Amino acid sequence: MSQEAMNQLRAWMAEQGLDAYMVTQPQNRSYLSGWLNDDVEGAGLLLVGRQQQILFTNPLYKEVVENEAQGWQVNVPPSREYWAAIATSAQEHGWQNIGFESAALTFAEYEKLRRSGESIFTLHPFEDSYIEKLRQVKQPHEIELLKRAIAITDETFTHLCSWIQPGMTEKEIQWEILRYMISQGADGLSFDSIVASGPHGSMPHAHPSERHVQRGELITIDMGARYKGYCADMTRTICLGEPSEARMQEIYDAVLNAMKTCEAGLYAGIAGSAADALARNALNVAGLSEYFVHSTGHGVGLQTHEGPNLSPRSPDTMVLPEGTVVTVEPGVYIPGWSGVRIEDCVLVKENGVEVLTQSPTELVLQR
Ligand code: ZN
Ligand code: ZN
Repeated sequence: MSQEAMNQLRAWMAEQGLDAYMVTQPQNRSYLSGWLNDDVEGAGLLLVGRQQQILFTNPLYKEVVENEAQGWQVNVPPSREYWAAIATSAQEHGWQNIGFESAALTFAEYEKLRRSGESIFTLHPFEDSYIEKLRQVKQPHEIELLKRAIAITDETFTHLCSWIQPGMTEKEIQWEILRYMISQGADGLSFDSIVASGPHGSMPHAHPSERHVQRGELITIDMGARYKGYCADMTRTICLGEPSEARMQEIYDAVLNAMKTCEAGLYAGIAGSAADALARNALNVAGLSEYFVHSTGHGVGLQTHEGPNLSPRSPDTMVLPEGTVVTVEPGVYIPGWSGVRIEDCVLVKENGVEVLTQSPTELVLQR
């Protein structure tokens, strides 16, 4: 746990008039407590008071929490009755106004908590948790973990490039990605790998199938290793042997240019919408923007998709903070034909970016 993050959270709580803040979103819980756990259901929650910091959990996690959540008072209520235990704590500490993450609490849980706290405290919802804002700016140790996750992903791509052959199925490739990442020290995958060959490439989130990859077609591979909780995210589009149509290389070059143009134009303080426009305008010049059906990028960290977003829908006030790590991933998807996506992770600095992804960006693998 970072003491700096706790201090910032408490300063924000004071501004909001909160006596305590309840954290139920799993990665926010990990970030603040140091206890790495993605489990939602009943795993536990944090209550941060002006002085106190209490981690409520159940007997399944008691031992690991006591080891990992340094500085937290651990409370294991009988029969997982968190809501009654929170009311007891609130009474003990005089908490009257408690903030909570409304996007990470079910209505049923909210109702139970509200009833437990009747005449003790009032609940205040926050749809965008302040902790998510804190998480956008990576601390040095987080950047190291992200770099390791990204390096494992790069090593996996290098391995795939020598291993992959025409005739393998998308699922065989999916399996090899998992096997290799684990062998290189990954915890697992950041997300289910995408291997989309030929016509499947027009679907940005295609599921790997029994289809055999072929010489001369486009193959999009989107994958990421997870390392100590931190998520890499990378896409490369490759072709085994020479492309069967000249258009494949043309579209590939346009997408690569859009990615490079965006990476070259990013800096701390740029609005998320302006960042998106860098890639979108480059594809527009190439006459391809109608086929770019998603936003340009997203933050990565304890989650594969987190803030800040590089999106045309980002409010103008949403800027990329210095020290955030985001993806840049333009794509072109032509229904019935195929698609291209290329995705790097970059660290946003004062005057530019450091490109963290090291994998090469050549389309053609000689086969
Ligand atoms: Zn991706
Ligand atoms: Zn991504």
